[in-house]
Amino acid sequence: MNQPKYIFITGGVVSSLGKGIIAASIGRLLLARGYKITIQKFDPYINIDPGTLNPYEHGECYVTTDGCETDLDLGHYERFTDIRTTSANNVTTGKIYKTVIERERKGEYLGRTVQVVPHITDEIKRRMLQLGAVGDYDFIITEIGGTVGDIEGLPFLEAIRQLKWELGENAVCVHLTYVPYIAAAGELKSKPTQHSVRELQGLGLQPDVLVLRSDRELGRGVLDKVGHFCNVEKDCVVQSIDLPTIYEVPIKMAEQNLDAVILRKFGIVCDTEPNLGEWKNFICRREQASKEISIALVGKYDLQDAYKSILECLSQAATYNDRKIKTHFIQSENLTRSNIEDYLSTMDGVVICPGFGQRGTEGKIIAAEYCRTRDIPTLGICLGMQMMVIEFARNVLGLNNANSREMNPSTPYNVIDLMEEQKSITQMGGTMRLGAYSCVLSIGSKAYEAYCKTNIQERHRHRYEFSSPYRQQFEEAGMLCTGINPESGLVEIVEIPACHWYVGVQFHPEYTGTVLNPNPLFMAFVKNVISKQE
Ligand code: GLN
Repeated sequence: MNQPKYIFITGGVVSSLGKGIIAASIGRLLLARGYKITIQKFDPYINIDPGTLNPYEHGECYVTTDGCETDLDLGHYERFTDIRTTSANNVTTGKIYKTVIERERKGEYLGRTVQVVPHITDEIKRRMLQLGAVGDYDFIITEIGGTVGDIEGLPFLEAIRQLKWELGENAVCVHLTYVPYIAAAGELKSKPTQHSVRELQGLGLQPDVLVLRSDRELGRGVLDKVGHFCNVEKDCVVQSIDLPTIYEVPIKMAEQNLDAVILRKFGIVCDTEPNLGEWKNFICRREQASKEISIALVGKYDLQDAYKSILECLSQAATYNDRKIKTHFIQSENLTRSNIEDYLSTMDGVVICPGFGQRGTEGKIIAAEYCRTRDIPTLGICLGMQMMVIEFARNVLGLNNANSREMNPSTPYNVIDLMEEQKSITQMGGTMRLGAYSCVLSIGSKAYEAYCKTNIQERHRHRYEFSSPYRQQFEEAGMLCTGINPESGLVEIVEIPACHWYVGVQFHPEYTGTVLNPNPLFMAFVKNVISKQE
């Protein structure tokens, strides 16, 4: 096994610069040169994981194969690189402190005072090196959440400072900053970047490479000036300007040799280009698509980040079907029987989104009814699938007030119910059915048509399930259970063969779609949206 090399990525000036996209792009470029890589993210907040966080706080919660609830940046890592991340790829301050405090309670610090330095920083370093110790990687990209200057980020930066010293030529720091354009002066300003680098230097860290985010071309003058004032070689300062799609970022970075200068910092000389053929084909196809499809996302939030992976999967599937996609966020809370026509009649397809809690669920049920009776291609995901089941129970089976026990604990018809093993659980965090589970598909079903095989694995994040005692009643009335978990017998997929394409899945297919390997279910959905449109 090699000694892996570490690329640390920090951010300065403001948040939301897209550090995750830059980390994922560097990963893609190194893969395109044949290296083995992985990417990890360290988040300085105290929550153990983002599972309990509101999407307004932190966007979507991404779920790994091994059932860890993680930051949405891990979704970018997987979509850009096709690597599979695990719980070891996302570490929070909460996890670090939990480990240290548990060790203290066991008496493992042998009477010493437990402190941020060295005990917390040592645990951060241990976690940073852990992936390299268990896997065979050439490069480990480590992104630090937050912005340089945040109090909570300090232990992470101190850990990097120490590691950079210990790893010597096997560590490189990339710092991402922002260059604002001041319209009144008509000027681009590099001063915030200089201050941010100085802040890092004050902590003993010298960035090796700078990536400057901006809404416009910076020009060599600005880049050289920043290099000059920040002790960074001129060709190690690159720009990352706003682009029509995040998927162009790896290409723009390659054009400026970002991967080559990072490799040079490790003492690796490369005179070839990264192999981005397939990636470029994807971008080309995306640009060439002219026809458009309109897809509604019926959910609780009209917030991009809350449905990040769903949006990306839809957009990948659209590209591979040579279509542009227009997505419309529809807040299900606003839907009524009398206005549903206004919202959905012009849509080519509808996704009924996942979610938790009662708010907006009746609107999702109204949307499900509209799509089923008008035969609009529909994909229901997790809570969306549950609402399709409830709608069918109420309106086709005549089970009045059928519901999920999550929304109405005393429903007379609990067509969606709590799993037995969930009933005794009192803690909220990390206690759902999480991670990848197997599912066996019925030959001849729409689901089978999508995946082209009988055994699949998709990731889950939920507490409630289709209530099996009702299965026969549903199937006799035309809603079939076409995906079943082989171990537990739980229903994973429902569909109505009489409709053009009306499929609900208990799992989250959006976590497995990548740029080079789009998710089969989203592909089938978009394909059927197009065939229905035509
Ligand atoms: N709230 C539902 C459950 O826990 C669905 C969860 C989801 O959509 N991810 O079963």
